[in-house]
Amino acid sequence: MSDIPYKVYLSEKEIPTQWYNVRADMKNKPAPLVNPGTGEPMKVDELFPVFCEELCRQEMDNETPYIDIPQEIQDFYKMYRPSPLVRAYCLEKALDTPAHIYYKFEGNNTSGSHKLNSAIAQAYYAKKQGLKGVTTETGAGQWGTALSMACAYLGLDCQVYMVKVSYEQKPFRREVMRTYGAKVTPSPSMETNIGRAINEQYPGTTGSLGCAISEAVEAATSQEGYRYVLGSVLNQVLLHQSVIGLEAKAALDKVGVKADMIIGCAGGGSNLGGLISPFVGQMLRGEADYDIIAVEPASCPSLTRGSYVYDFCDTGKVCPLAKMYTLGSGYIPAPNHAGGLRYHGMSPVISQLYDDKLISARSVKQTEVFEAAEMFARVEGILPAPESSHAIRVAIDEALKCKETGEEKNILFGLTGTGYFDMVAYQQYNDGTMSDYVPTDEEIAASLAQCPKF
Ligand SMILES: *Cc1c(COP(=O)(O)O)cnc(C)c1O
Repeated sequence: MSDIPYKVYLSEKEIPTQWYNVRADMKNKPAPLVNPGTGEPMKVDELFPVFCEELCRQEMDNETPYIDIPQEIQDFYKMYRPSPLVRAYCLEKALDTPAHIYYKFEGNNTSGSHKLNSAIAQAYYAKKQGLKGVTTETGAGQWGTALSMACAYLGLDCQVYMVKVSYEQKPFRREVMRTYGAKVTPSPSMETNIGRAINEQYPGTTGSLGCAISEAVEAATSQEGYRYVLGSVLNQVLLHQSVIGLEAKAALDKVGVKADMIIGCAGGGSNLGGLISPFVGQMLRGEADYDIIAVEPASCPSLTRGSYVYDFCDTGKVCPLAKMYTLGSGYIPAPNHAGGLRYHGMSPVISQLYDDKLISARSVKQTEVFEAAEMFARVEGILPAPESSHAIRVAIDEALKCKETGEEKNILFGLTGTGYFDMVAYQQYNDGTMSDYVPTDEEIAASLAQCPKF
């Protein structure tokens, strides 16, 4: 056994005081957001009616490598950060692998995921702008919970449009949000024009993330003193999530370990982007090399089977267009249980890094993901979120490859959250009734055909 502890903790003083903006080091910048009306790149002030001003500036800033984290946000981070970097000795032993496995655990707060890192930042800038409140969507519920916590802390109103299927499947998530003072509405609702239109067009629909986004944007722009905030995909969210990677790198440096492989699950790409940012920065500056893998569900395979084109970010087509790996904004994935990974598109930063072959991607099926989740829960003790378990699956697969080859690779993966609210999914897995859905090429092609043409 090596002398590396089970948990590598940083001290409170070592929590990052600046976010790292990987765009500053990218030679090929992520493509700009485009105004769907004019076909021209969005100007920063065109975004102001929808988003908070400081966040718009962060969204557009492709040049500044380090951005100071305001003191109030640093103080909030101290309540639940630094998050531990864990050496998965028990998993290594169970797999009988020579690989060294590390995970950065972001589930150690009530929202149960990394999303709080950006929620507090976005709520802070809304408050600083003097707004009354914010609106948002939530799929699985983690983002809505995180934002409710941040808004409660800062005394902001919080309105959450929750995808109807989750609203019904996860009543306790909803109650956590309400406990933190949020107003939670199942989407599609009858409260917005877009919600009414979608309900009319698709009677009985259980909703989608893209549809809830449209409703939340409409709610923000139709109420005085409100703006819309988004929990993933945007450049600003990846920026805030860079605390994950900065801490992970500092902890590894502290014990003199260099990762060979970095693995993260990818829904909209924010935790992955945050985890890999400082490492990709080194790659871009020619200082080091890493093997980076984005893991997505086989039922919603934006990177592995989508196209890199301009597309709408939401079903109602009210948001700007983003160039990203997408399955088409009308793609409604089969109801798999990793709700946080069911978005049709992907962060423009991650998309560009993938297109430039700086990172690779893999898709995995739901049942194999839950096999990995079960093993991880039994040997490492933590009950993982289904989303996070995508990364666990690939970390296990890679560690088993090392067993074949005898390589002592250092594998780092992001354990983004806990799965206490995902018991319907675990129940199906335990009952043996879970199924795998993989879309056909025809289904994906039909959805992609609906992307706007440029
Ligand atoms: C939201 C979520 C994800 C996926 O979102 P990204 O923006 O891709 O990081 C992954 N894991 C958990 C636990 C989540 O809540």
